[in-house]
Amino acid sequence: MPFEPQGELPPRERRLPLPENWDDYMSAARAWLERHWGDRPCPYCQDNVWRINEVVSLVNAPGWPTVSGSPSGYYPAMPVICATCGHIVLVNAGYIFRQ
Ligand SMILES: [Zn+2]
Repeated sequence: MPFEPQGELPPRERRLPLPENWDDYMSAARAWLERHWGDRPCPYCQDNVWRINEVVSLVNAPGWPTVSGSPSGYYPAMPVICATCGHIVLVNAGYIFRQ
């Protein structure tokens, strides 16, 4: 399994501007998911209707090693939730939007 260097984000020019409001966030997130995920079903229930929630923070656990050069120790995570069974997939919003 290939791994990329830790802490690398896609080039800034490939990421979208940070949305200024909820409607812009939703339309940009949906467009990004359609482009990258297509019409993939949930791996547990096989339905293919998803919901997107607001970005949350994943914070590194105290006392554990951190990524060298990590500027903040947190990750902006966009929850994508299966509308049928509730399975949650977290997408690193830093791969979609530039801050
Ligand atoms: Zn599901």
